[in-house]
Amino acid sequence: MKKVLVTGGTGLVGKALEEVIKQQQPKDEEWYFAGSKDADLKDLMATQALFDKVKPTHVIHLAAMVGGLFHNMNNNLDFLRHNLLINDHVLQTAHKHKCTKVVSCLSTCIFPDKTTYPIDETMVHNGPPHPSNYGYSYAKRLIDIQNHAYHDKYGHSFTSVIPCNIFGPHDNYQPEVSHVIPGMIYRMHKLINEDEPDKPESEKVFTVYGSGKPLRQFIYSLDLAELMIWVLRNYDSVEPIVLSVDEQQEVTIYEVAEAIAKAFDFKGKLVCDVSKADGQYKKTASNAKLRSLLPDYTFTEFDKAIKSSVEWFRSNFDQARK
Ligand code: NAP
Ligand code: GDP
Repeated sequence: MKKVLVTGGTGLVGKALEEVIKQQQPKDEEWYFAGSKDADLKDLMATQALFDKVKPTHVIHLAAMVGGLFHNMNNNLDFLRHNLLINDHVLQTAHKHKCTKVVSCLSTCIFPDKTTYPIDETMVHNGPPHPSNYGYSYAKRLIDIQNHAYHDKYGHSFTSVIPCNIFGPHDNYQPEVSHVIPGMIYRMHKLINEDEPDKPESEKVFTVYGSGKPLRQFIYSLDLAELMIWVLRNYDSVEPIVLSVDEQQEVTIYEVAEAIAKAFDFKGKLVCDVSKADGQYKKTASNAKLRSLLPDYTFTEFDKAIKSSVEWFRSNFDQARK
């Protein structure tokens, strides 16, 4: 019987994994979803106590300090230190517990800022990341170095996945922390339901931060969960693997705002505020490696996934992280 510990099990991706596992009901796997209340993984003793309690044979390591562009820009030191500590504690404790496999999470935003496109798994360490999120990026890049070092010294099967931007139910909607999709969902909900109550909706203006021109690939959290479970069960390499939608599925930030407006049936106007940062212009990633192994995987259509995410937020407004 496999015992799978999911660190970060209470977050966006952790909750999606829990949902997919609930549907699959695997007979030969027992899953434990841990949040920061179970253990603060910045603390080595707490990390060890969690592993002593759960006794995992496998780990999906999601726990991290995570946030959107503006949160990263203001907190590079914390992103670096917290994530270095969390990752070192989890990987070293998994080693001590003789875990068969660990799948950790990198991100397409940790790649070199100046690069050729599309980016792929071989390019993670090729040059400095975008200055907005160097703390997060260097901490994440070191997971790949650690995985190789554990493999070289002990032959461990510690690997990593590289998702593009993720969204879905149970996202983090806190305005100062959130990524673009949960940030926009919360702001549009507030604009429609709370702000300027005397104004007709058709006269309300929704602000898209930045120029609206940057390009992003977005994966629905439930699709990512399915792919991560496949990686845990079937992918046997230390080298990272990009888990992203296809390159043609890349959208502009303005198109994201339009999709969210459509899901809310928002009647007002969208206006870009160019005084706000754009961040990286694009980070187009190739999923060719994934496609070579899983050619027929169908990603949930973007508009449909946005609609489900907006519906989840509306129905779970009270419990949502905001
Ligand atoms: P999230 O919703 O913010 O969840 C973060 C999770 O980490 C939560 O379960 C949180 O626990 C846990 N956590 C944070 N600090 C912790 C600590 N000190 N000790 C123990 N647990 C801690 O993040 P997510 O979006 O699901 O991200 C999952 C993974 O995907 C991360 O490794 C992230 O870097 C990566 N990723 C995310 C994106 C994206 O667009 N969101 C894109 C690419 C990669 P509590 O909630 O219980 O405090
Ligand atoms: P990134 O993909 O790592 O850069 O992070 P985000 O998910 O935070 O996306 C940032 C992009 O979305 C930038 O171009 C922002 O200017 C733009 N954006 C537009 N509105 C928002 C918003 O409400 N929140 C955030 N975080 N970004 C926004």
